[in-house]
Amino acid sequence: MSLPAEVDVLVVGAGPAGLATACSLLAHGVRADRIAVADARVEHDRSYSRALVVHAKTLEMMERIGCADAVVAAGQEEHSIAFNSLASGRLITYDTSPLKGKTKYPFVCVIAQSETERVLYSRLQVLLGGGDVHWGMKAVSVRETADGWKVVGFDGGEEVRARYVVGADGPHSVVRQAAGIAYPDPFDKTGRATSMPADLDHPSKADEVFCLADVRVDFPPVDPTATGRKPSQPLPREGVNAYLSPHGPSLWIPFGQGTFRIVGQIMDGEAPAAPSKEYVQHMLDTRYPSPAPTITELVWSSRFYVKFRLAAKYWEEHVPGTPVQAVGAKGGLLIVGDAAHVHSPMGGQGMNLGIRDSIYLGEALAHCLSPSLSAPDARALLQRWSDDRHAAGKRVIDLAGGITFFAANATGMVEWARDWVLWLVGCVPGMRRMAVWMLSGLGEKSATY
Ligand SMILES: Cc1cc2nc3c(=O)[nH]c(=O)nc-3n(C[C@H](O)[C@H](O)[C@H](O)COP(=O)(O)OP(=O)(O)OC[C@H]3O[C@@H](n4cnc5c(N)ncnc54)[C@H](O)[C@@H]3O)c2cc1C
Repeated sequence: MSLPAEVDVLVVGAGPAGLATACSLLAHGVRADRIAVADARVEHDRSYSRALVVHAKTLEMMERIGCADAVVAAGQEEHSIAFNSLASGRLITYDTSPLKGKTKYPFVCVIAQSETERVLYSRLQVLLGGGDVHWGMKAVSVRETADGWKVVGFDGGEEVRARYVVGADGPHSVVRQAAGIAYPDPFDKTGRATSMPADLDHPSKADEVFCLADVRVDFPPVDPTATGRKPSQPLPREGVNAYLSPHGPSLWIPFGQGTFRIVGQIMDGEAPAAPSKEYVQHMLDTRYPSPAPTITELVWSSRFYVKFRLAAKYWEEHVPGTPVQAVGAKGGLLIVGDAAHVHSPMGGQGMNLGIRDSIYLGEALAHCLSPSLSAPDARALLQRWSDDRHAAGKRVIDLAGGITFFAANATGMVEWARDWVLWLVGCVPGMRRMAVWMLSGLGEKSATY
């Protein structure tokens, strides 16, 4: 299947954000032959799965593109996540019961990112009515013609011209760079604006290092005398649990069929690119309650460097430097997902935020393409979308940064004080409700475009 020469919208990237954008465009009435989706990967399958949860607000948004039921069916409903300290035992339980009656989805849906993407991809194939993503197509350039068409060049020499180009092409986004949109660290007080992603490739002191592993284990015998807030309770076979320890925060997620996901932030330096069974067993032994289970099989493991970045804005009307003559033509470059924001996985927000950016954008672009909407009104609509999503991104980055700081930077007396503060917060129903509201995404403003 070859790329079309001309479309209304070209989506670059078919990760969760690109797939959701394309589904939303089609669900909001854009004709399948007027969009194209291109991705550098040769096929859809991913060899890894990073995100593990889909939150209530994201499921509500996924209803708009006909994917919510399939995601819920493929995942597990979790109604609570327990936060524990190795030093003090159970601190606080993130309990989704305050969401009952407020949303159709009063739970956290635990589902591997690869499964969420599979649902989005299947839905896209249905909406495309026989069409598909153009796999193996790496975008390398974006230029603009004098009459306002954006022309995306691919590494095989192909070119596609489009009115709107959506960059769903991850943190190194070619589209964001072509638009000249800065991608600074929102916590960098020097105000250094980074539009080139070179430093994204090089681990720096400011990075967070995470180790992820899927394991099968043998559990030690249960101690029937262990009760209450005692740290000696063994790792549970069911339920998501977070553990705070001097080695760093860690998660324990039962994944179904006897597989468990371990996620740990590595505080004391470098981690191997593919952590060995021994390395992961050491994490289990030192960060989780003892006696720890014994790993019988390491299914998969990986290391990730995580940076904090937030694009200065999410849309630019023209490729900088183009002498555009066709004033009044509609068009623009837009960015969604990790092309617009990256941050710590603490709180499980990144993919969720990107999917919501994308579903809103599909709706906004569908209106922009309507002949009844003038170019100035289309511009104003995209500006509103960009402002709203930038504000949503900033809130999530502040939240993820805050959780990371609180969870990761504590030893000795500070650890003790943190544990007590968390425990006390867990005793105040209003605080618990606020936490659930923020993490579920339901605190995010709902909009129509
Ligand atoms: C360790 C870790 C744990 C995480 N846990 C969670 C979690 O629990 N919950 C959560 O919500 N999020 C989580 N995230 C974040 C989540 O994985 C990302 O936010 C999500 O994958 C971003 O999706 P995306 O579609 O924007 O980008 P990607 O998934 O990066 O997809 C980008 C796509 O663009 C393609 N592409 C790139 N460049 C080009 C090009 N030039 N031309 C064509 N195609 C191109 C790529 O091939 C890829 O398919 C985690 C991230 C990490 C690192």
